[in-house]
Amino acid sequence: MKYFLRALRDASKSWPFLVGAFLCSAGVAGLWGANIAALFPIIEVTLNGESLQEWNTSRIEDAEKRLKEHADEITQLEEQLAGGGLPDADRIAARGRVDSLILSDKGDVAILTSARWLQPWLEGYLPRDPFQTVLLVVVLIVVSTFLKHCFLLTSTMLVSYVAMGISRDIRTRIFNKALELDRTQFMRQGSAGFMAQVTHTAEMLAGGITTVYGGAVTEPLKIIACLTGAFCISWQLTLACLTMAPVVGFLMVWLNRQMRNVSKNILSQALGFHHVMLEALNNVLTVQAYTMEPFERERFRESTTKMMRIGMRHTFFRALANPITEILGIGMVATSIAVGAWLVINQETQIFGITMTDRPMTVPGIMVFFGMLIGAADPVRKLSGVITGINVGIVGAQSLYPLLDTPSKLREQPNPLRLPSPHREIRFDKVSFSYDGIDTVLREVDLSINFGERVAIVGPNGGGKSTLINLICRFYDPTKGSVLLDGVPLSNLALADLRRRIAIVTQQTELFNETILYNIRYGRWDATDEEIEAAARKARAHDFIADFPEGYKTKVGPNGFRLSGGQRQRIALARAFLRDAEILVLDEATSQIDVASEELIHEALTRYVENRTVIMITHRPSTLALADTILQVDHGTVTKRPAASHQAA
Ligand code: ADP
Repeated sequence: MKYFLRALRDASKSWPFLVGAFLCSAGVAGLWGANIAALFPIIEVTLNGESLQEWNTSRIEDAEKRLKEHADEITQLEEQLAGGGLPDADRIAARGRVDSLILSDKGDVAILTSARWLQPWLEGYLPRDPFQTVLLVVVLIVVSTFLKHCFLLTSTMLVSYVAMGISRDIRTRIFNKALELDRTQFMRQGSAGFMAQVTHTAEMLAGGITTVYGGAVTEPLKIIACLTGAFCISWQLTLACLTMAPVVGFLMVWLNRQMRNVSKNILSQALGFHHVMLEALNNVLTVQAYTMEPFERERFRESTTKMMRIGMRHTFFRALANPITEILGIGMVATSIAVGAWLVINQETQIFGITMTDRPMTVPGIMVFFGMLIGAADPVRKLSGVITGINVGIVGAQSLYPLLDTPSKLREQPNPLRLPSPHREIRFDKVSFSYDGIDTVLREVDLSINFGERVAIVGPNGGGKSTLINLICRFYDPTKGSVLLDGVPLSNLALADLRRRIAIVTQQTELFNETILYNIRYGRWDATDEEIEAAARKARAHDFIADFPEGYKTKVGPNGFRLSGGQRQRIALARAFLRDAEILVLDEATSQIDVASEELIHEALTRYVENRTVIMITHRPSTLALADTILQVDHGTVTKRPAASHQAA
């Protein structure tokens, strides 16, 4: 709940919109009650055939007459009481009668005041003819219904604007979080998890906020408007009609709990469903090559079936909320009809010895009372939707906010240092590292790479080569020890400053579904087209790019699927060349490039690597030839030796 309250607080930053929405909701509720109250004059003039002015005058006269009679009776009773001599029982009865007359007088004074206030309005604005009065009221009802819907529309739009704003804000924050987390933290959610959070969960939260600031305001206000009207007619009878409320309240609390559990299940299933779907679709080639379509189909079917099962439970509880709230509504109306009708038919003011009204109710009075309760029953019924919406919002917030609150392990110092370029040295000082806190991937590594050095990292698979690079690029922080640039731990540097110094080509080439130009320009956004072409020539990519009908404007498809592995690597290399960074990191960067092209690339590399630090993971002897130092990484230990070519030299 606390997270949902936070979301509501976030939303309340747009308070002018919410105040506007609240005022509109109040307008809706007021007009809702007024429309029902408008029944009164219709019934009154239709039943009695007299104008409202006459009805009001007779109310004034009746009240005045009653007040006078009561005043006389009170004087008489007071005299009797003052005279003494009355037996105790009669004294008590006389006192009781005086009290009840005083109470009744208060009601009459209220009637008199309101009727006298009303009289000039009725005289000034309402026709004297009963039928014309009915017509006027009917027109007013139509106009007020129109107005009510204008208010409702405005309120819906305002609330929706705020909720969508929050959901956009949350989406942005989740996206930013995904970009800022270290890779282990990122992988806890995975792309599928982040996708589900950005779409499904943010939607849930927005729905919850809309419900709270929309339905959860409008519907209770409508109920309040109608119950206030009913209270004015007879507060005792209204309370009697609400006797079922506690039972229904208890049922709603139970239902609330069920709904929240189901909503949580739905969310976790939705996350699983995204995982299954994205995994199969991202690896579709493997699925097809190994004819695993039936297996994947079954896995997908299972996850959708689970979703469906939970969806059905959700529907069941949501549907159950309807009858429960409706029971309260109908219970109210039924009690009011039974009690009210009994009072009117028998012209009584009491039931089971409890006073319900000061004086017997009139037919129009009880009709409006019924109307008010029916008017309250409808929003009560709609409250079930409000409860569902709030629950969904709570579950959404519970999933989103903890993720947003997760601090990235790659935090920067408040005042990060900026070092002059180029750097002098990269140093590992007793660095140990573990991804999961269990297996140690690097152990107490001491290592130094000077500026301008060309280092080849070699070693068996899983030895820790890529991990070494990950630490240099600060995709992770060491578990123990520190990686230093010119003696400053990387964690004390601005992350952007560090990354700006590095150009990296990884084993898995990552390309965007954009043009080749866009993909190369990603290395340096302000590069000119000429610079991009020069970089492409260095990476031996220009020729194949020029062969495409659209040249550099060719779209590469999702993750560059329209290109061959070697072509993709060459574009990634061009991107790295374009960056013109002081540290070049190549992780098996030419592994898929044909021998002839690779030779040409090496030639370009030999010129390019001057005046920068180059760190390359490679098994290719031709690439090794570029190196002047070899780092042998094996089961977490690193040893440094001069490259064979240098030894030979
Ligand atoms: P290399 O590049 O030498 O082949 P890596 O540095 O990629 O090896 O991996 C070293 C070890 O760390 C391997 O045993 C691998 O299983 C483990 N590893 C790599 N990446 C992760 C990760 N993100 N989470 C957990 N373990 C990992």
